[in-house]
Amino acid sequence: MLQTLSASAMSAKPTAFHHLLATLAHDGRLLRLYSQNIDGIDTAMEPLRTEVPLPKKAPWPKTIQLHGCIRKMVCLKCYRVSNFRVELFNGPIQPSCADCEDNNNFRIKAGKRSHGVGNLRPRMVLYNGQNPDDEAIGSVITSDLRARPDAIIVAGTTLRVPGARRIVKEMCRLVRDQVDGVTIWISKEAAPKGKDLENCWDLVVRGSCDEVAQYAAMRRWDQELEHSKTKHGNAKVRSVSFESVKVPKRKQRQLLLSPVSPKIPQKVTGSKRRIPRVSTGSDTHKVGKAVGKRQVQIPQSIIDIVNKALG
Ligand SMILES: [Zn+2]
Repeated sequence: MLQTLSASAMSAKPTAFHHLLATLAHDGRLLRLYSQNIDGIDTAMEPLRTEVPLPKKAPWPKTIQLHGCIRKMVCLKCYRVSNFRVELFNGPIQPSCADCEDNNNFRIKAGKRSHGVGNLRPRMVLYNGQNPDDEAIGSVITSDLRARPDAIIVAGTTLRVPGARRIVKEMCRLVRDQVDGVTIWISKEAAPKGKDLENCWDLVVRGSCDEVAQYAAMRRWDQELEHSKTKHGNAKVRSVSFESVKVPKRKQRQLLLSPVSPKIPQKVTGSKRRIPRVSTGSDTHKVGKAVGKRQVQIPQSIIDIVNKALG
């Protein structure tokens, strides 16, 4: 199973939504990405990079992996973290830690008693196990709450994991306390019910994150500038841009993205809870709806809302 998981993670390409996140981060508009993904596709992108183990104190990386990652492995004895090597996990026996073996051999040669050798395992959280980064994650959350972000997008998750659900609850509550705060749910799944998440969302989009990202049509963070050589050998810089994308002129707001990958784009004006725009569906592409009685048609309404969220 590990081999399959690892192989699919390493071969997977970032989706439109991953790129949208990376662009937001690259532009300084993303305060934090809290990811439930263990494939590391997001953190493999430079703007969304993380650190393993997660530092206990600031500065923290852009992405916080709530459940670890298949791309790293850890020794259960000496806790050394290293890149995951799938070839070590090709049998029924857990692989041994080479560092522990070296240290142990050294001790034995020196006439000291053996301290034993630890086993390696992927550094990810299985079956609600404990995350070794829990304490650090708690510190990041506290810090981010103090930063009072004014937008949160929760995307591609079911929030069945209690810890993730608690994070979302706290952050949504804080964001909605802001005058212009906006909370957005994007998922093929319905927003979870429950008293803790009651009146939690300003906007609910039932649809694919990647589809929303495509509507957003933000420029790609890694294609902003394309360098090419002229025939004279001089570096030539060519801008690759989408006309629909505007660089915000005023102070940019920061977004908090929660579980999995969210998206969103463009500019904004206006205030909070008036968000959704009513429209009749000339477009059959109805992937979004506003909370309450208001109905929103994709794409323009979503883009407007996203604009609002991003200030
Ligand atoms: Zn070890």
